[in-house]
Amino acid sequence: MSDDFLALAQPGVQQLSPYVPGKPVDELARELGISPETIVKLASNENPMGASPRALAAINDALVELTRYPDGNGFALKSLLAERCDVQMDQVTLGNGSNDILELVARAYLAPGLNAVFSEHAFAVYPIVTQAVGAQARVVAAKAWGHDLPAMLAAIDCNTRVVFIANPNNPTGTWFDTDALNEFLQDVPPGVLVVLDEAYIEYADGGELPDGLEFLSAYPNLLVSRTFSKAYGLAALRVGYSLSTAVVADVLNRVRQPFNVNSLALAAACAALQDTDYLAQSRRLNDAGMQQLQDGFQVLGLSWIPSKGNFIALDLGQEAAPVYQGLLREGVIVRPVANYGMPNHLRITIGTPAENIRLLEALAKVLVRG
Ligand SMILES: *Cc1c(COP(=O)(O)O)cnc(C)c1O
Repeated sequence: MSDDFLALAQPGVQQLSPYVPGKPVDELARELGISPETIVKLASNENPMGASPRALAAINDALVELTRYPDGNGFALKSLLAERCDVQMDQVTLGNGSNDILELVARAYLAPGLNAVFSEHAFAVYPIVTQAVGAQARVVAAKAWGHDLPAMLAAIDCNTRVVFIANPNNPTGTWFDTDALNEFLQDVPPGVLVVLDEAYIEYADGGELPDGLEFLSAYPNLLVSRTFSKAYGLAALRVGYSLSTAVVADVLNRVRQPFNVNSLALAAACAALQDTDYLAQSRRLNDAGMQQLQDGFQVLGLSWIPSKGNFIALDLGQEAAPVYQGLLREGVIVRPVANYGMPNHLRITIGTPAENIRLLEALAKVLVRG
């Protein structure tokens, strides 16, 4: 028997590449020999405002209980979410980030011989969770960078158990409207679980995007996942959740780690959920920053993919890697997306007004230098 432990890994895992995160600030600071404070990181769709002061206070209060296991059922957070989302508590599943939810879905519903359908240029975690359990990834060609929902529908076969769709999608920022979602949900076979990943939904105000929650009662095969990592500004704590039928939530609950969400994350998420001012300010800052970046790109003669997230995919019309490297030398970290099949784009997170200016100035410099 072979002792090649790469070849011994199950085939789906052998074919995976590890998830590549945004470059950490401290790493670039070490490489450039400069102080971390001078570096601007617009690479991981993090909230540039910092965490809500109410979340920080809640963490402080929770510190005295660090010796105890967290509430494995997350009662306080689940009840707040149930109230907010107008569902029963037993429809809520908590995750160690919404990545955890995606993994729970794959572990519970996918296996060798089964498949998951998702789009080209979709979130990198979908192939990871699918192939990790030995299931097949059925990747559907994108249309104008976005999800081609009719083509995704056509890709569903008798072995499909899950469809992953993100609205808006990361890294493209593309989205679909209520009618498109409704038509899609009407036609998906009832035995296929539709995972509607709404990681950025809080940035869309006043009906700009369909609200997945409105479809839950009509479609028992729908699961909506959301996160505290983006608009709620708690990426480091790893907390996300899903809303589904109680049956699906029960199934996910069977495979999750007993204490998958830690006490500090639970406390902070409860506080963040109630800090409506913070959320409104996040949204305003994002709207203004989106405009600021687009205006700046226009001045530089660059185009981009219109986005409903807290990030924007900038089209350089040429290999983006040298521009990424040039920006690093200027102390600005953005995200290359060649591994998403987008070698000419860079994904840029909306920052504070000052951070956006730093990015635009660095970009102008790097482009002139060529
Ligand atoms: C950022 C992001 C998530 C959230 O990940 P967490 O694990 O909750 O931090 C989920 N889906 C998409 C599409 C994302 O961009």
